[in-house]
Amino acid sequence: MEFALIDRIRARALARGDVLLGIGDDAALLQPPGAGQALVVAMDTLNAGVHFPDRTAPADVGWKALAVNLSDLAAMGARPAWCTLSLSLPGADPRWVDGFLDGFDALARPLGLALVGGDTTQGPLSVCVTVIGMADAGAALRRDAARAGDVVWVSGTLGDAAAALAQWREGGDIDAVLRARLDRPAPRLLLGAALAGVANACIDVSDGLVADLGHVCRASGVGASVDVDALPASDALRGATGTGARRRLQATGGDDYELCFTAPATATDAVLAAAHATGTPVTAIGRIVAGDRVEAQLADGSPWALPSAGYQHFG
Ligand code: ADP
Ligand code: MG
Repeated sequence: MEFALIDRIRARALARGDVLLGIGDDAALLQPPGAGQALVVAMDTLNAGVHFPDRTAPADVGWKALAVNLSDLAAMGARPAWCTLSLSLPGADPRWVDGFLDGFDALARPLGLALVGGDTTQGPLSVCVTVIGMADAGAALRRDAARAGDVVWVSGTLGDAAAALAQWREGGDIDAVLRARLDRPAPRLLLGAALAGVANACIDVSDGLVADLGHVCRASGVGASVDVDALPASDALRGATGTGARRRLQATGGDDYELCFTAPATATDAVLAAAHATGTPVTAIGRIVAGDRVEAQLADGSPWALPSAGYQHFG
């Protein structure tokens, strides 16, 4: 049974010159990049009922399983090249697999990303993707490189995906714009690559801004001061929520897959040039400071008590 599914997957896999041997053997053979380049490897799992609602369309699952992985490469400033796919499926449903591949390919194909192997097993619905990319070894964007005085930036808008999830949990209609942010996150690959060598530290916002900026601070041995009223919000989010709920969603809502990065104030023109060149909006939202905590204040300077941080498994 699984061999028929693997054949379907194999028939759609993209060819690439640096894939010496793709799907079909015991393992793939890949041509490593040249001197000065590092391989960049990331893996993320999506479990039904945890990372996406049980009845999510298979194409949306396929898109998102790849998007969350590509977002990790974006946050390193890497260019994606290859990926592997582990599918755990309750049954051998070729229509589900075809739908899944529609979403997966819609993202992979324009990037020239080749699926080179994987595993197909029976079990609760779960999808695990590994992506492999390349970056200039010295210019990769790490979490541990933020410095006191850096400006903190974020791409796009925050809180949209979490607002969609909240509407879904409430059982009412889900705003289509917000829903698209949850189902079809767009990894910021172009911006990430353009920031390599410009930004100091970078992370993608998967767990929520405060939680993820907290990871950067911990790794870098610094604190951060965030201007809550500077956090970028979409019109859809403004239309769907009041001020208090909107601030909470923007500061702590996960699943947006925007980039949060820090750069010296002297690099501001270079940051704006990278944003312009890649067509990606960016907003300055605060500063890296001495210390070890993320603090937030409102536009009038009064402190804003942070709601408890982002999503934690086993929390
Ligand atoms: P093995 O028993 O050696 O692990 P498999 O039957 O699991 O072999 O896989 C056969 C081939 O199909 C391998 O090249 C494997 O990488 C590929 N493959 C299996 N499942 C997938 C999948 N979901 N996506 C892509 N390639 C897959
Ligand atoms: Mg196997």
